[in-house]
Amino acid sequence: MSAASEPSTKMRLSVDARYVPSRYNLHLTYRNEQFIYNTRTGAVVHVTDPQVLPFLSSPCEESPYFSDARRLGLVIPGGHDELAELRLKNAIQRFAPTDLHLTIFPTLACNMRCVYCYEVRRGVTMSDATASCVIRFAERLLQSNRFRRLTVTWMGGEPTLCRDLIDRISSDLTAAAAAHSADYSASLITNGLELSEITTARLEDWRVSSMQVTLDGLAPSHDRLRPTATGAPTFARILAALEALVESGFKGLTIRSNLTKDTIESVDEFVATMAPFLRRYEIPLNIVPADNDTGIHPELECSFIDELDFHSRSRHIAEVMIRHNAFFASAPRPHGVACQACRMHAYVISPEGYLLKCNHDINCSAERAVGHVAEDQIEFSRLWSYLGEDVFADPECRECQLLPICMGSCAYLKQTKGVKKCLERDRVFEQMVWTQWMKRQRKEGETDGNHS
Ligand code: SF4
Ligand code: SF4
Repeated sequence: MSAASEPSTKMRLSVDARYVPSRYNLHLTYRNEQFIYNTRTGAVVHVTDPQVLPFLSSPCEESPYFSDARRLGLVIPGGHDELAELRLKNAIQRFAPTDLHLTIFPTLACNMRCVYCYEVRRGVTMSDATASCVIRFAERLLQSNRFRRLTVTWMGGEPTLCRDLIDRISSDLTAAAAAHSADYSASLITNGLELSEITTARLEDWRVSSMQVTLDGLAPSHDRLRPTATGAPTFARILAALEALVESGFKGLTIRSNLTKDTIESVDEFVATMAPFLRRYEIPLNIVPADNDTGIHPELECSFIDELDFHSRSRHIAEVMIRHNAFFASAPRPHGVACQACRMHAYVISPEGYLLKCNHDINCSAERAVGHVAEDQIEFSRLWSYLGEDVFADPECRECQLLPICMGSCAYLKQTKGVKKCLERDRVFEQMVWTQWMKRQRKEGETDGNHS
């Protein structure tokens, strides 16, 4: 080591030797129980020793808590710039050439008429010629990049109305991915009405490993909110198909439930009734407020619960879930970007072949497209409107403790309405602390102690 380098090394060591609390330690209290959730590392700690909080505000290496706190990222070396680290991860994730994700809408036609549905162009279905272009588009990208994974999400309308199209595209994309040494997997977002027509072998051919189906409460509310196109009830039919699906061994099912003013009062009964089924097959339940982000349904505004109303109930819903040992869907975790729209190698493909960045743009595909699967050209200024957004330039986001799990919120809403849809602290508490920590407590059969 040269003499000139010694002073700077010493100086760095002296700075690193001082440990400080992470700026992303979120301190949460519930019924006198204390929790720390570090939003940068995802660590959750139940604090049962009163010495822990003073230690975290002024860490010292001699403390018995030091090694765990260091490992979990609750304390960091004084020279560690967490914001700079997030910024770097954000840049890497936005442009990472490792993953290609396609959300494919084979059709906007649907056999249901959910009252809050934001899709308005029901007559459009992908042609065989466009399907060929989708496959060639993916092949071109696979050729010019070294993706390690190609993932597809099937959405609609109701995608399972186009089973032959999914057969064909899945088979060709699986082969194209294999030819370029990339893994291929898919997920399916379906209303569930056609599920009884789809064998598990076919799902395997599609490589569908995860599926989301919506039940908006029990039959009285679900059938009112999600009838068929002819007005018939759907709850019993979907539930029977789901039972058959999980009985056949499918493991990746999640049930989503949209809360509206119609469903919020019966959510306890819904969870209590569904819990034995959810527990038996370890199916996560994701209860979320139905949104009107596209503004398609001004006439229904009174049915949507506002975020505040939802947050005021979210802990109650979490308690009901825990009481019935129901499984929660995934909680917000640290991630590099707000959503797929902010990633360069992620496209939403409309039935006409338009390349979009966000599902919400599906109603105005031509105007919001960044390209088309049949063409080699990309509209870079539109692409940049998603990719170029710098969340770190926003002073509020820069200071925000939720930044690592939010990354600046929905880009579509910021672009179209100029609003930030902030994550809410209580909701983070509910989803992270109760879902992760309490679930593990239940599994381990423990009642107290320090755990991470
Ligand atoms: S199932 Fe989906 S696409 Fe069909 S009407 Fe309902 S929300 Fe719209
Ligand atoms: S959008 Fe809101 S919650 Fe998200 S990082 Fe910015 S300030 Fe925080």
